Amino acid sequence: MLFSKTELLDRERHRSLRWACLKSACPQSCCLLPDRTFVVLEEVQGLARHFPVVINIEQEEDGRESKLFCAYFRLREDPKGCLYLKEGTGCLLEGEKPYTCRQYPFFVRGGYLAVDLTCPGFSQQVGAPVWEAEFVNPLFERDFFAYSLRLEEGKARTQELLELLFNLGLVVGGKISYKGVEVSFNMVDERKLAELPPPTLRELIDRGYMSVIYAHLNSLQNWERLINRYLQNSA
Ligand code: SF4
Ligand code: SF4
Repeated sequence: MLFSKTELLDRERHRSLRWACLKSACPQSCCLLPDRTFVVLEEVQGLARHFPVVINIEQEEDGRESKLFCAYFRLREDPKGCLYLKEGTGCLLEGEKPYTCRQYPFFVRGGYLAVDLTCPGFSQQVGAPVWEAEFVNPLFERDFFAYSLRLEEGKARTQELLELLFNLGLVVGGKISYKGVEVSFNMVDERKLAELPPPTLRELIDRGYMSVIYAHLNSLQNWERLINRYLQNSA
């Protein structure tokens, strides 16, 4: 299971740690396991072109509830991993991947750099060294931790919009039935949105939220792609 062996990065303990992605030889591809990922506000418009991006309420490890935007990689029942994982090639999205994909298996926890040692790409022998003398290898800073920081920085603004949507009573349960498969999720109610008082609508526009809300609504048509893929894989 991903994230079952996480550790804060420590110069002494991880001095000889190296990492290289095993790609198609990986026995535990991080693209096969999760069915979704949380995304931050600045990602919603781009990712909405590829995935259904919906509103989830999820339980944290400490029991607290979190409101999140989540992009779905596949239907939970689909055994073949993310829609954009191509056998022998890897991710088809390249520069358009969610930040959580880009950072993995590195991340930031409580302001500190951390690693998920369940990724089989870590070893003492193969790949780029995680440490270069006293510093984290700049390769990992640039290509991985940079996205962890964008996720950290984006959380507060994302939360602000989600709280606002819930407080305005705009979040409702939605459902799609397509080719005999039914999917349920939370979404913004477009009718309630249109009925908001003009000053509230103006505020949503001025704060740049309206384009995010419509990207989320447009992304719901991507459920059909996930359902088609699931039906193909289970035929
Ligand atoms: S990042 Fe790690 S878990 Fe993901 S494919 Fe590469 S080696 Fe495997
Ligand atoms: S978007 Fe790409 S990297 Fe992320 S899970 Fe899908 S195939 Fe893997």
